[in-house]
Amino acid sequence: MAVMRGKPMNKGLLIVVSGPSGVGKGTICNALRVQDKELVYSVSATTRPMREGEAEGVNYFFLSKEDFLAKIEAGAFLEWAEVYGNYYGTPKWIIDTQLAAGNNVLLEIDMQGAVQVKKAYPESVLVFILPPSEAELAKRLSGRGTDSAEVIAKRLACWQAEKAMLKYYDYAVINDDITLAVKKVSSIIAAEACSVKRIEEEKE
Ligand code: ADP
Ligand code: 5GP
Repeated sequence: MAVMRGKPMNKGLLIVVSGPSGVGKGTICNALRVQDKELVYSVSATTRPMREGEAEGVNYFFLSKEDFLAKIEAGAFLEWAEVYGNYYGTPKWIIDTQLAAGNNVLLEIDMQGAVQVKKAYPESVLVFILPPSEAELAKRLSGRGTDSAEVIAKRLACWQAEKAMLKYYDYAVINDDITLAVKKVSSIIAAEACSVKRIEEEKE
């Protein structure tokens, strides 16, 4: 077996988590990061106003629209999209550096961004988080208490179109019981990281 001749070396795994606003992506991703300290979380840039409790460089890099557009021009993003009326983007250099170092990288981004990532990195793994019901999604969005009624209505209205993007994903996980949902996503990552197709023979 070719793989056995040299020392097997794995490039990092690029995991993309998407889903409607309020479904629990952030909660799931935080739990994954607590479980696996080596998992690299990609901090995105955004033009959205900072929420209470958020910090610069931790949740996002908060940019003005002018600065964000300049970064698009400079090719600084692996992907970017306008989501719910604001711009969001994934800094490219962080992803390239971490994957080359063999680290697994977690992206929590919207569906338009996920499709762009799959194009640039066909070996990436796309996970779609689904709500148990629309009523529960609405309940979670308002229960979080971070957004105005107007923002919540705008985000809920997008769910109908967002649903149609499921076909581009590799896995779907329903976030009903949070512990079970985290376990499922973490099992997907573990299985994908062990996939034989990811083993590269070290160049002699
Ligand atoms: P997202 O990042 O997808 O917008 P959050 O992770 O912020 O969503 O979760 C939205 C709200 O739903 C939060 O208040 C969170 O505590 C809650 N939540 C997340 N997962 C569950 C779950 N499985 N059951 C009940 N509430 C949940
Ligand atoms: P929020 O404003 O609730 O933090 O995020 C709103 C939406 O933007 C979510 O669907 C989230 O996944 C998405 N998002 C966050 N960062 C990025 C990013 O870098 N790129 C893209 N395309 N979407 C992002």
